[in-house]
Amino acid sequence: MNTGRKMLESAQAIILKTAKSLKLANELIERLIQPNVIHELNFSVGKKIYKGFRIQHNNNLGPYKGGIRFHPNVSREEVQALATLMTIKCAVAGLPYGGAKGGVIVDPKKLNENELDELSRAYVRAINTFIGAEIDVPAPDVNTNPKIMEWMVDEYVKRIKNQKSKIKTDHETLNKLRATFTGKPIDIGGSLGRTEATGRGGVFILKALLNKLRNSKVYSLKSNNLTVAVQGYGNVGYYFAKLAHEQGLKIISVSDSKGAVLVNDGLDPETTMNCKKEKGTVAGCYCKGSVCDIRYGKTISSASLLELPVDILVPAALENVINETNMKKIKAKIIVEMANGPITEEAYEYLTKKGVIIIPDVLANSGGVTVSYLEWYQNMHGEKWSEDKVNEKLRLMMDKAFYSIWDKASGYKALDLKQAAFEVAIERIVKK
Ligand code: NAD
Repeated sequence: MNTGRKMLESAQAIILKTAKSLKLANELIERLIQPNVIHELNFSVGKKIYKGFRIQHNNNLGPYKGGIRFHPNVSREEVQALATLMTIKCAVAGLPYGGAKGGVIVDPKKLNENELDELSRAYVRAINTFIGAEIDVPAPDVNTNPKIMEWMVDEYVKRIKNQKSKIKTDHETLNKLRATFTGKPIDIGGSLGRTEATGRGGVFILKALLNKLRNSKVYSLKSNNLTVAVQGYGNVGYYFAKLAHEQGLKIISVSDSKGAVLVNDGLDPETTMNCKKEKGTVAGCYCKGSVCDIRYGKTISSASLLELPVDILVPAALENVINETNMKKIKAKIIVEMANGPITEEAYEYLTKKGVIIIPDVLANSGGVTVSYLEWYQNMHGEKWSEDKVNEKLRLMMDKAFYSIWDKASGYKALDLKQAAFEVAIERIVKK
């Protein structure tokens, strides 16, 4: 079975299970499972024809929201699964948004900058009539970035000006048009704090969980010197490690696609990143404080990082890395799903029954879309906030999201935050 189809089936299965347990009527369940609109697009760039998608899953809570990915494996099923999960994630995060996703079947690594610019603009021409700041708000995803958002928003504003010759060209109107895309560069309306937002949001959620556990009679955490291992040292993994370290957690192991490093006394994330930039990998970066030295640690495989006897495990790279083959070897007490779908359904069930506390992806990595919402809000209200203000708003929103899920889960036999997150999300979506 292709991975897109598998993703879609598992997203639909958990919605179905949750909606049935909430005793929703059949037509409501069907509307949660089937997307509102599937746009399948064929568009040309010069003589080449590309296939792309924009799937608008559900807009009960507000405008559709979701990224655009450029990847050769993009499929209708994958985009639909991701759009469905965006509906849940936005509802979990308490955002006034629905869920959508876009994608183009392309290997962007084979395109030069000009070709990428042309492709981005052509995709926007194909979708411009059904997006808008109050309709559907795209953002970056796999292989798309602020530069691509700049081309897209530029093309979008040009199209709107062409279509509506009487449109005003003042700052306020321009800001609102630009709010159609988030993840933009700062000088055209992007928000400070967006780069770190997903990692930062994950650390806020983890801190909120640790506070609850420290005060809980049921789940106790004895150590004050909690250890952490992070798989993946890209945007999400690095900022998670850096900010968790600043909060006093001990990061003992990190990895990237080329290997992992273990420093039992605790590594310094920033020095490790500088070392990775020099070497091209974290393997071999045994960095304590500002010094990297072979005596401080050793290189291990990325797979064995997952099996370390740490308190907190943070998969922040790929999907399905914790599965039937390694679930029995996982020793962490808490897992923070910073990647999308890093734990398979079987492993999730096994670990939850064993008493491992898992912060599900729809909650753990929702800091990114939350700051996208703050960017949109600033554009819509003609405001520009300091990074501190953005971070503080993110903290308040992440705390609120966490507490509503925690409260819901507290009534269960086993602490299943994923089930609670889906319940809270679906209740919010159908209530509106
Ligand atoms: P990224 O490309 O910046 O980083 C990915 C990292 O994973 C890299 O360090 C890469 O070397 C590493 N990696 C790849 N294969 C690996 C392997 N086998 N073992 C260990 N490490 C490996 O991507 P990112 O933006 O950090 O995203 C990571 C995950 O988080 C993805 O699942 C993504 O969908 C999810 N996510 C990202 C955001 C965001 O705002 N960036 C938001 C929500 C979810």
